[in-house]
Parts: sequence; C-alpha cells; structure tokens
Amino acid sequence: DAAPQTRSFEADVAKLLHLMVHSVYSEKDVFLRELVSNAADACEKLRYEALQQPQLFGDDAQARITVTVDSESRRLLVEDNGIGMSESDLAEALGTIARSGTKAFMDRLGSDKEVEGNQFIGQFGVGFYSAFMVADRVDVASRCAGADTAALWSSDGLGTYTIEPIDPSEAPARGTRVTLHLKEDAGGFTQASLIERTIRDQSGHVPVPIFLKDGPDAEPRQIADGAALWTKSKAEIGEDEYKDFYRSLAGQFDDPALTIHYRAEGLHEYNVLAFVPGSRPFDLFDPERAGRMKLYVRRVFITDEAEILPRYLRFVRGLVDSSDLPLNVSREMIQESPVLSAIQKGVTNRVLSELEKIASHDDDRYRALWNDFGSVLKEGLYEDFGRREALLGLARFKTTSSGEAWRSLKDYAAALKDNQTAIFYANGTDAQLLASSPQLEGYRARGIEVLLLTDQVDSFWVNSGIDFEGKPFKSVTQGMADLDLIPLPEGERSPPADASAVNDFIAFAKATLGDSVTDVRASERLTESAVCLVAPDHGVDRQLERLLARAGQ
Ligand code: ADP
Ligand code: MG
Repeated sequence: DAAPQTRSFEADVAKLLHLMVHSVYSEKDVFLRELVSNAADACEKLRYEALQQPQLFGDDAQARITVTVDSESRRLLVEDNGIGMSESDLAEALGTIARSGTKAFMDRLGSDKEVEGNQFIGQFGVGFYSAFMVADRVDVASRCAGADTAALWSSDGLGTYTIEPIDPSEAPARGTRVTLHLKEDAGGFTQASLIERTIRDQSGHVPVPIFLKDGPDAEPRQIADGAALWTKSKAEIGEDEYKDFYRSLAGQFDDPALTIHYRAEGLHEYNVLAFVPGSRPFDLFDPERAGRMKLYVRRVFITDEAEILPRYLRFVRGLVDSSDLPLNVSREMIQESPVLSAIQKGVTNRVLSELEKIASHDDDRYRALWNDFGSVLKEGLYEDFGRREALLGLARFKTTSSGEAWRSLKDYAAALKDNQTAIFYANGTDAQLLASSPQLEGYRARGIEVLLLTDQVDSFWVNSGIDFEGKPFKSVTQGMADLDLIPLPEGERSPPADASAVNDFIAFAKATLGDSVTDVRASERLTESAVCLVAPDHGVDRQLERLLARAGQ
C-alpha cells in the first residue's frame, strides 16, 4: 500500500479550523445538524442522479442515515448511503471552503478575533468543519454510488489532512461514514439519549429516515421517519399528528389554538404549516422578540432566523418549505432574496386572515386567543402601518360598558353619541381603577363608552397618530374640547354656575398653583368630583408620561 498522501488545508480552512478547535462556542451540538444535513444532502443528490441512472441504487434504494454512539471508544459515527465521495471529491470538498455561508463567515471574521467569531458559529452554520468543535480527529470513509473503490480522509484539524485509498470493505457499501473521535470535554456526545434528543430537535424532519445505534453492535432503532408532515395533504393528517408535530416543533405541551396548513401556488410555491399555541410561550416577552418560524428549502432545514413573520406575530410557531429558493443559498443571502419577501408577505397576510376568520365567527375561541396574544398583536399597530387596518379590526378592548366581554372598534363606532367624533380611551394599569377615575365622570354622565387600556404597549400605539374609520383616538386626560360638544342629558345637567364665583375660584387656583399647571379651566367633564388633572390637548398623555418618567426620560 502507498503511504497516505499528506496535504495542507487551504489558508481559509486552516483559519476556520483553528477557530473550531479552540472554540468556546457553547452550543456545540450544531455539528450534529451539519453532519446529518450533509448526509441527507448526499441521499438527495443520489435520489436526483438515480432519476437518470436507476442502477446507481443497486439493490438498496431506501435512503438512510445511521448514527452510532460508541461510548467505550468515545466515537460517534454518522453514516449515509448517499452519493459518496471519490478521492478527488474528498480533496475538493473537505480541503477548501465550498459553501458561501462559510465564506461569509470568514469575511466577518478578523485575523484573530476568536471570541467574536465564536458568536457567529451557530448563526452561519459552518458546515463539516464544525465537527472539530467536539472531535480531535475526524475520519471520512467514502465510496461513490456505483464505484468499486473507496477512500479515506483523515485529519486532526491542525493544518493538514491525509487522503488514501482503502479497501472497499472498510467503507460503507455505498455512501459516507464520518467518524468523530470525541475530545475529552465532549463526553456528553457519547450519550445516546443526548444524541437522540438533539437529532429529533434539529433534524427530526430531514427528508431521510434516521436510525440510532447505541453501540457498534446494537440494533439500529429508527428515531426520525424522514417523512415531512407538511408535504402531506390535510386529509391525510390526523389531529393527533398535527398535535405531536406541534409539540415537538414548538416545545410546547399544550394543544395548538389554531393550525394553519396550506400550499401557496402561483408565482412562488411553498408549503406552510403554522400553529398559534394554546397558551403563552415562555419566551413571549423576551427582549429579543425573536420569531420561531423555520425556513426549509425542499424539506431541508435552512434557518429559523429568516424572520418570516413580523415580531408582533412571534407567538406563531411553524415552518415554511420553499420550492423556489436555491438549496445552496447561504443563510445570509436568503435574507435578501425577493422570494423570501414574497413568502413573508404571503404568510403574514394568511395568519392575519385566519385570525380574522375566527374573530368574526367564533367569539369564545377568539376571546381566548386575544387574552393570550392581544397585547403582542397590538405592537403591530405602530410597527406595521401597512396592516394597521387589519390589526385594528382584530383588536379587542375592555371598555366602560363591556363588562367582562371584549369590544371591537366596529362595535364601539356603531355606538357613538351625537357629535362624538373621537374614540375615547383611559390609559392606566388597572381597568377597575380606571373605570372609577373622576376623569371619566363627564363621559359616564353622557353615556359615552371609553376604552380602558391597560397594556404597556397601549401607550405607544394610541400616540402614533392612529385613527379608526376616520376617528382619532383621544385620551380622557387630554383636553376637553371634544367632550364639551356632546350635550349632557337633561337629568345630568347641573344648575348653571355663578360665573363670577367660578372666575374668582379660577383666579385663586392659578395664583396658588403657579407654574405647576399650564392652565385652570371650567369644564362640564366632571359631574361628581370638584376638580381633576388633565393633560394639555397636544401634550404627552398622562400614562405615557408616567412610563417615560419610570424609564428615566
Ligand atoms: P455544504 O454542505 O454547505 O456544501 P459542508 O462544509 O457541510 O458544506 O460540506 C462540504 C462539502 O462536503 C459538501 O458540499 C459535500 O460536497 C461534501 N460532503 C460532506 N459530507 C458529505 C457526505 N456525507 N456525503 C457526500 N458529500 C459530503
Ligand atoms: Mg453541509
């Protein structure tokens, strides 16, 4: 036998490997996603080639990925029966940087900015080389479909690798076996349970079935079936199947409140399977407000950071599987793709229209949805001007006359009083306190309904120049001009005040309060209390003022 040929990695690969070998990146399990996705890719490539050359399948047409945990020898094996690699394929694929995502990663990486680089590993997905985060030696034994020769690639990730021909019996009958010799501190990955959980979470829906062997001589056990649920037709899928899928996808333990499953056809083709959870996910109010929609391209998971839905729909869990995006596009390039923007628009509109359907047909169901996610949806009122109208249609409110029910703005608008040109609201933290505030006396006396806004987000959207069917939102603490135009019913009217006594009192109040108020005015807004504080017509609303003060502004 000839001695194995030792070769040096391309400079960029050496740099990348240095980073991997010394990685302090905490989520090292991404290597498994990369190896499984390569194995699945290899099976898909063979599937495609075999369309023309069915003999490539030999007597084994069933694609399969087998992961073997060998805890005794601290090895982890990822094997596929896909297309395989020849000696020259190995040198080309595992000695250079093939993928544009990895190139982009390298561009972001300065000369020796290891710490910064570490933050990007998961974000970019650095491919095969991520194996060196957990292994101090990696062997790749491979045999091309239809070939009777096999080759072995081997490296410790420290600058060089070897390639040599091997006896075909030492390689898979077809395809590739990647053997990781795990580092001392990567012991966790010798636990079959961790490997199983990680694969189910990250790769449970790759389009190739996955088997796990707990030990080299153990029976393979299937842990993922390779069938993408979302590509099946609705009629084929039972409610329980949706529920299980939702639970594993969303990490929720409840039942979905709404399941949206459809295929978009036409200019862009994609499958959508999305769920509104039956309860608030634990991360709903995380400051990152990150969405959880996954992007697949032809059943291969690409990223969950494509921001398919706007932040105010971040409670929706699910995925989009595109037939149009190129599979080899980097996660970064996808962000700029016009295909992605078409998907974002289509899916967002669809989620809102499904919510609208429930809102208009099923009060009880919608009440539960609004209870859980209304405060998040309202963020869209100032973040998504283009969909403001739709969102205002979805919005529900507690009001001075709603009791325990939720009122829509449509209902509010239908109950306007003569001369009422604005939608009035009171803003605070407690609906009951608000409802009994003296600020509302004048409204109550006139039978005017007032929205009771108690979510933090309310202070922001009501002050964003918003209106509903041409009617502006006005705080009950802001000015009084509108109210005074609306006549008090007969019985509520107090006897005319003595004008000069009122003027004397106003003069006294102004003199006493001095600079702490802008003005003192007589008004018909109070029917029981003597005085109340209001904000100027165009000033900052009182509740927003309090919020800003708390934030130190
Ligand atoms: P990417 O998968 O984005 O191309 P990777 O770094 O993950 O980048 O892999 C580099 C290349 O190595 C792949 O493009 C492929 O050609 C080859 N490769 C890796 N694993 C396998 C495998 N199991 N079977 C066949 N080819 C593989
Ligand atoms: Mg890959």
